[in-house]
Amino acid sequence: MSRRAARKMPKPSAIPHRLDTSFLRARPWIARQVGKAPGLALFWKAGPADSRLGMLWILTVCSDPLCPCRDVKVEARSVPDSLAYVKVIGDHTELASIPDPGAHEGPAARSEALAFLNIDIDTGAISPADQRTPDAELLAWARAEIDAELLAHLRAAWRAAKGMEPVEAKSPIFI
Ligand SMILES: [Zn+2]
Repeated sequence: MSRRAARKMPKPSAIPHRLDTSFLRARPWIARQVGKAPGLALFWKAGPADSRLGMLWILTVCSDPLCPCRDVKVEARSVPDSLAYVKVIGDHTELASIPDPGAHEGPAARSEALAFLNIDIDTGAISPADQRTPDAELLAWARAEIDAELLAHLRAAWRAAKGMEPVEAKSPIFI
């Protein structure tokens, strides 16, 4: 291999991959906001007293095209229905809330529960991503959301991070 070719190898620091900038406006009245913003997803369900409960996913995918891993990492957070939007810039996540007219101050939307999860993009199996114990309700909710549509979205995100075509492969890729 020439030195020129060697320099083209992906740098280890480029892995894993979290999209630099992503933005998603909250739509708490719908069930699922998937595929609207790279690396982000929002899920909503009925909460107490006509409120809506939200679950935000921030995806991280290994971007090494030669790595055989078949999973995505998800940082899941509970979010309130006062959430206005989510903005991710590098490692910084900004959650902005709609001001509550009954509150003395308008705090930024706070995320309360956290779960760091690993999702197998073929089987949909979900496991804790590391030693941190995931919030039990978020873990159960994440598992309940897994279906063909969501797995297709996760596979598309995985392919995009690996620098492959965004569509499902038409034929096997041989290198
Ligand atoms: Zn990998």
